[in-house]
Amino acid sequence: MQSFPSLPSNFLTNPLRDFLLKQSPKITRFFPATVQKLKLGNQKVKITNPISLTPYAGTVPCSAKCKFCCERLVRNNGELLPFQCAIEDGEYFQILKASLSQLSRIPTSFTMSGLEPTSNREWLIDCLRILRQHEQSNIGMVDSKYLYSNASGFALSSSGSRNRSRQRSTAIDLINSLVDWQPDRIDVSRHHYDPVVNQQIMQFRKGVQIQDQDVFQSTISDLKDLLPIRLDCVLQKDGIGDLDQCINYLNWAKKLGLKEVAFRSLAKLPTNSSLVRNQVFNYINNQQVPINQIVYQALKHRPKDWKLIQMKIGYYYYNLSLSYKNGMTATFEACDYDLLTKRQNSGIIYKLVLHPNGSLNASWDPTENILISKENVLSVTNPETFSTNRREHKFENVHRESN
Ligand code: SF4
Repeated sequence: MQSFPSLPSNFLTNPLRDFLLKQSPKITRFFPATVQKLKLGNQKVKITNPISLTPYAGTVPCSAKCKFCCERLVRNNGELLPFQCAIEDGEYFQILKASLSQLSRIPTSFTMSGLEPTSNREWLIDCLRILRQHEQSNIGMVDSKYLYSNASGFALSSSGSRNRSRQRSTAIDLINSLVDWQPDRIDVSRHHYDPVVNQQIMQFRKGVQIQDQDVFQSTISDLKDLLPIRLDCVLQKDGIGDLDQCINYLNWAKKLGLKEVAFRSLAKLPTNSSLVRNQVFNYINNQQVPINQIVYQALKHRPKDWKLIQMKIGYYYYNLSLSYKNGMTATFEACDYDLLTKRQNSGIIYKLVLHPNGSLNASWDPTENILISKENVLSVTNPETFSTNRREHKFENVHRESN
């Protein structure tokens, strides 16, 4: 009999939990993680293998203002928003190169996210170029590559001014650069198949073309043959909030020529936190949809339509992939910020984020767990960055560890 000790019973709840135990699904476990020791910055640290690194895209505000956006949560300490403290691009990319040189021959998973990575296409193109150089060098060991986007920077407007035609040209450059990067997946967020409801949730800024349903659909249609696209829908009471709506969404995605959709629950916010009780905080708490019940309803009550394919257990999330009778795969994912905090405080690094202020942290919070800062980057820079000579990896030993 399998068990899920790392997933608290108030997170993976009954009756789904007991149902899954009886089903004995195929499980891929990323937690407990394989851990390796290395020197990062000027510190000796333990990191997971592979380690996930996010160059945080935050030089400009996002093209949308999703009502649940965690990046719009504010702490009591009055911190600045990411783009308000972004350093100049050239300096940022030097720190990115220095960070990559520290990860010499360490299996790394690149996750491009932050605010909206395609809002500043030139920045993203440059960033991808550096990641590709690292991958092609003798020190680069890349495990996987993902991009999270609302697709606004991919929209190809053909009409109008010189500015529009320049935008079209950089959008094409960006798409080509992504094709060269060969991502494992691009998750495109869209939270409803009805454009009016979607706009109420995502609140794209004035003039952002991707809010238009025809533009979105034709953009996806252009991209899907070039890049592995999955739609990403956050479940919420005012949007997709029950099993029947999930089915409608899957039918719409199938018409767009896609094969996969992710349904994510809104994050369970940390219980003891310094987060300001602002509109976003209240929206996240008030709009929660019971994802465990939706999955249970599908598997238990409609077994002819839905089949469980696999389960993944991560350090603060789980996801369940189900096939639906129309040929689509739906992955239901839930995460818990209390678990995230617990793992982050365990002494093991699960995540590296290079923040817009040029600080490499073992945390999504730029003030916590700083490993390399703009000030100390020179002292940790490896002169052999992108060397063509093969170097031995630095980690001292590898073992499995849990907390
Ligand atoms: S697209 Fe992403 S970053 Fe932008 S507002 Fe929505 S959730 Fe936030």
